[in-house]
Amino acid sequence: MRIVIAALALALAAGGLAHGETVYVRAGHLVDPERGTVDGARLLRVEDGRVAAITPDGPLPAGATLVDWSGYTVLPGLIDMHVHLADTGETNNPAEPLLHSAMEVAYMGARNARTTLEAGFTTVHDVGCYRAFGDTELRDAINRGDVVGPRMAAVGAYITAPGGGGEVTGLAPDVRVPDDMRVGVVTSPDEVTQKVNYLFQHGADSIKLIATGAVFAIGTVAGQQELTEEEMHAAVVVASARGSWVTAHAHGAAGIKAAIRAGVRGIEHASLIDDEGIALAKARGVFLDMDIYNGDWTDEVGRRDHYPDDYMRKNTETTLAQREAFRKAVQAGVKLAFGTDAGVYPHGLNARQFKYMVQWGMTPMQAIAAATTVSAEMLGWSKDVGALSPGHYADMVAVSGDLIADITVLEHVAHVMEGGVVVK
Ligand SMILES: [Zn+2]
Repeated sequence: MRIVIAALALALAAGGLAHGETVYVRAGHLVDPERGTVDGARLLRVEDGRVAAITPDGPLPAGATLVDWSGYTVLPGLIDMHVHLADTGETNNPAEPLLHSAMEVAYMGARNARTTLEAGFTTVHDVGCYRAFGDTELRDAINRGDVVGPRMAAVGAYITAPGGGGEVTGLAPDVRVPDDMRVGVVTSPDEVTQKVNYLFQHGADSIKLIATGAVFAIGTVAGQQELTEEEMHAAVVVASARGSWVTAHAHGAAGIKAAIRAGVRGIEHASLIDDEGIALAKARGVFLDMDIYNGDWTDEVGRRDHYPDDYMRKNTETTLAQREAFRKAVQAGVKLAFGTDAGVYPHGLNARQFKYMVQWGMTPMQAIAAATTVSAEMLGWSKDVGALSPGHYADMVAVSGDLIADITVLEHVAHVMEGGVVVK
């Protein structure tokens, strides 16, 4: 009865099980983030890649295909709302994006997608790459089954001010950055309207604004607003008309509040958010997506690898402040998604952030909800991912040990299922 379905994993794409196929999953414990419980042994019936029923563990029908995870705690596949899969990765070189062809980055993206999936992240929001549409192309390759990876939502390109946080900066003034790295550069609300439409026409799921300067963009100031409120509102108008939404990279307090007033659904980083900004996010139901792990990675590796002083100074300016703001946001009851900025540190280490979220004020179950139900809500994919109640995709991970007692067990997932197919 105990059948390993690796062959099936090779045969099938991210869509999951072929039509009509049924698989049973036996879970030693089952985490239910919708109810906030860890339940005892359960049997999940998976049909056509989605959960069809959950019952207390019991006998299987004759001849049934079983994935026996009775020795594990099983939870919904994790969601990371802030990754950069189609990118060249962490580096001390501001010109790094210019050193790799689009083809090379595509293959790197394929590797990053698999690594992320095997770390237990079955859904991601990819919030941009320097070469426009590297992320949407990767998403499409995964959906076709050409590449093994998580379910992806992608933004196509950064909407950014010239020389702003979404640009390749730090170059000599007479170096010309390739056009495909400047697709989202805007100087007016009208240009935002035009470019946001262009991104949607070419496959963006959502829109990423660079509202303030960035840590990893030479010469930009993390606390300084770079897009006007009018420009950000123009993006929100187009996205809303298309049934989509906008999230804004914003470190500084003024840029965060302008983005919220402009109508964005989420704020990425939110490092220097003030009390007024937290209250505004709470009142408007805006999600904060705070990457409170990676500052430690950047500090350690940045010293070793001699990252530019500009990066290191801004990393120091934002890391502790962001964690303190995170604690306040938890206490205020703001909706907090799970986003890590994987790409500024190695893909696959995403789950390291759970420990920090618990250290800085969340219960373990709140941290799990952030990476499942809350992030699914931010994506607008609550019916499909982030939970295992019937109807959801059979995306799940199996871990050893008591994750409520020690959230770091999520850093070492034993098995991963995507759409009813065991992929690890
Ligand atoms: Zn990022």
